[in-house]
Amino acid sequence: MTESDIIAAIATAPGRGGIGVVRVSGPRLDAFVTALIGKPLSPRRATLTAFNDARRSAIDEGIALYFPAPHSYTGDVLELHGHGGPMVLQLLLKRCLELGARLAQPGEFTRRAYLNDKIDLTQAESIADLIDAATAEAARSALRSLQGAFSRRIEELLDALVELRMLVEAALDFPDEDVELIKQSDGAGRLAALQDRLQEVLSASQQGSLLREGMRVVLAGQPNVGKSSLLNRLAGEELAIVTDIPGTTRDAIRQSVSIEGIPVHVIDTAGLRPSSDPVEQLGIARTWEAIGQADLVLLLVDATHGEAAADREIMGKLPAALPRLKVMNKIDLLPRPPAFERGRDAGTVWLSAKTGDGVDLLRRALLEAAGWLGGSTEGLFMARERHLQALQLGRTHLELATHQVANLELFAEELRLVQQALGTITGQFTSDDLLGEIFSRFCVGK
Ligand code: GDP
Repeated sequence: MTESDIIAAIATAPGRGGIGVVRVSGPRLDAFVTALIGKPLSPRRATLTAFNDARRSAIDEGIALYFPAPHSYTGDVLELHGHGGPMVLQLLLKRCLELGARLAQPGEFTRRAYLNDKIDLTQAESIADLIDAATAEAARSALRSLQGAFSRRIEELLDALVELRMLVEAALDFPDEDVELIKQSDGAGRLAALQDRLQEVLSASQQGSLLREGMRVVLAGQPNVGKSSLLNRLAGEELAIVTDIPGTTRDAIRQSVSIEGIPVHVIDTAGLRPSSDPVEQLGIARTWEAIGQADLVLLLVDATHGEAAADREIMGKLPAALPRLKVMNKIDLLPRPPAFERGRDAGTVWLSAKTGDGVDLLRRALLEAAGWLGGSTEGLFMARERHLQALQLGRTHLELATHQVANLELFAEELRLVQQALGTITGQFTSDDLLGEIFSRFCVGK
């Protein structure tokens, strides 16, 4: 993949719509523009024009926008806003390919923006997160990262770290006074402050990561205990967009609801029964796979009947370490108030899916089990697993550094490793493999 060629893609979602956009990017697009439109375009001005084929007959008519470098996302950019029909857009794209463009790979426009220093890596990732956001909170948090809030916090950490490193490296150059110099400049105090700041960013990222990833809940329970009623109630009272977990396909065994903005992905065990049908077996295998990655199992029981032998059988097969939350449903038929009893695992909630009594207690129990601290989502970063890992690695090396204050060489080395770990977040130190992995998950045209 080089940056010296012209790439093109349909940037709008497939299907019919009022407007469809074909996006083109390349180092120099003047000749391309003239061939397609028949005349040069003023930079950054919306121009109503025909988009022509090779015989100069119009494929479509629409708005052309031309952003010559450097005031563009990546190189020269041309956007053709035509009519949003699949055939029109295909013909327009085909014409762009005739004129020398090649089809863009997923995320290639954003990759170019990153390589051109228009955005850093966390900002690039937040574009994909914004597009994939399933809740309003997730969307807002992704936008904050796109606007640079997360990168700024990481850069502040890096700045403080570099200051300390400079001090240590200077001390290393004056071996006679080394430890003394560090003491005088409050090296230990700076290190402690850095640890606190890193911990703050890590906590905000862990909470934010819940907004992004949500929690996976396995739903177990016999037919008619009220599983669908409960799911509907959880979904109905929140502004929830039911989506699949990004990167996986939606299937019948999985449904998502939003609780205070945290996506809760519910995996249904209803299909877990002995079967000789190969298709069903495949579904069952996938359900078990999903269960292996779950955070909690929710056992729904009809409180008027109590737990059934079949429930205990399913529970017995679930991973022993998986936390369990029992829900005793249909309390409206009993003389029993709603309650949340904290227990050995995640506890028991008594509720009625029908009347809604006690459902707020279930929400609280689920969020507690997920480790959600509640409060405002402002200030949280929708961190990815790789960000959390880098922050944790940085924290480990900072901790190791505290044990090496008397040995400056080792102290300096630990600090270098902290910088390296944090640098991978914004892309200061990042391998090509990782870039390929990150950008390949984008949609084409982005
Ligand atoms: P599922 O098979 O586990 O998904 O159960 P459903 O949600 O389809 O519910 C089965 C039946 O139980 C339906 O007739 C529901 O109206 C009823 N039901 C569900 N929850 C409650 C509840 O809290 N109280 C009462 N009285 N009936 C309920």
